[in-house]
Amino acid sequence: MNRAATNKEVRINNQKNIVNTLFRYGPMTKQELSVRLNLSLPTISVIYKDLAAKGLVAHGEKLESTGGRRPSPIMLVFDARLSIGVGISTNHVRLVLVNLGPTILNAQKHTLTYSGTVEYWQKVKQLIHNFIEENKVDQSILLGVGFSVQAPIKSGAAVLPSSRPVDMTGFEPEILNQVFEGPVAIYNNAKMACLAQVWGAGEEDDMVYLMLSGGVGGAIITDHRLLRGESKNAEFGHMIVRENGRPCSCGQRGCLGAYCSTRALQERAGVTIEDFFKELEAGNPSFHSIWDEYLDVLALAVRNLYMIFDTDIIIGGEMSEHVAAYLDQLRQRVARLNPFGSQSGFVRIGSFGEYDSAFGAALLHNDRFLS
Ligand SMILES: [Zn+2]
Repeated sequence: MNRAATNKEVRINNQKNIVNTLFRYGPMTKQELSVRLNLSLPTISVIYKDLAAKGLVAHGEKLESTGGRRPSPIMLVFDARLSIGVGISTNHVRLVLVNLGPTILNAQKHTLTYSGTVEYWQKVKQLIHNFIEENKVDQSILLGVGFSVQAPIKSGAAVLPSSRPVDMTGFEPEILNQVFEGPVAIYNNAKMACLAQVWGAGEEDDMVYLMLSGGVGGAIITDHRLLRGESKNAEFGHMIVRENGRPCSCGQRGCLGAYCSTRALQERAGVTIEDFFKELEAGNPSFHSIWDEYLDVLALAVRNLYMIFDTDIIIGGEMSEHVAAYLDQLRQRVARLNPFGSQSGFVRIGSFGEYDSAFGAALLHNDRFLS
C-alpha cells in the first residue's frame, strides 16, 4: 500500500474521530481529546487546524481554572454543515433545514396534492430550490436532501416491486431520479419519524412509534436499533381494530388506518382537520361523537401495542399535536383497557409533531457525516 495514502487515511480517520467525539460528548479541551482518543497533543493540534480550516470546529470560551493557564475548549460548529429533509404526504410537502446540533433551523409546509407525475416532482424540486435560496444555504456545506414518503420502502432506495403502496399509488422512484438528475434517497415516513425521536430528541430506549398522518404507520426501536424487518414492518395502520369495519385502501375492512388517519377523519367529518378541531372545540355534537370514536379506536390500538411490546408508545405524525390536546382523555381510555393496572403514562406524544418524518430524513445525512 502507498505510504502517503496510508498517512492520509489515518489523518482523515483522526478528523472523523474528533468530530464524532465532540458531537457525542460536547466541547472539550485539546488535553481531554488527547486522553480520550489516545493521540498526542501535537497530533490533536494538527487535526484541529485541518478541521478549523473547514469551518467544522472552533475554540469556545475559556473555562474557569484553578490557577495556571485557562484551557480553551474545542467545539463543533453546528452550522458548519446542513441537511434538508422533505416530507411527502398526500396533501402536503414539508421542508426542514437542520444543522449538526441537530436543530431545525427552519420548517415550511406547502399544500400540494401528491400525484406521482413528473410535474408533481418538478414542483417539489422548485420548492426545495426556493427553500435553499430563502435560507441562503451555501450548497458546499449541504450534506444532502432526504425524502420521506408514505409508502413501504426497502433500503432507502426503492419501493418493493411486490408491495402495494398504501397511499401513493403508482409511486415511481425512477421519476424522482429523472427529475432530480441523479439517485435520490427516499425513506419510509414512519421509520424516519422514529429516527427523529431517537437522534433528534436523544431518546435511545426501546419504543414503538405510532404515526398518525394521511395514513397510519409505525416503527419499532428494540435494543436501541430500528427494527427493519424483511420488507415492511410495523404497518400498524393495517391492524384490524373493528371486525367488518370501515373499508381500508388495502382492500380489508376495519383497519386502524380507516379510523385514525387524517384522511379517514377528514372524510368522516367532511371538513379539513383544522376546521374539525375548531368546530369540535366550539361544541359541535356530531364532531364530538366522531372524536370519541377516534379516541376509542386509538386507545385500543395503543393498548394492543403495549401488550405486545411492553414499552413506551409514542404518537407522532400530522395528528400528534391534536391528540396531544386530548392526551388525558386518551390515557384514561387506555388505562381502562390495561389488564395489568391503571397506568397509561407510557402513551406519549412525539417531540417534532408534523415535521417528524422530514426531520428524520435530514438526520440520516447528519448521521452519515458524523459517523
Ligand atoms: Zn388496511
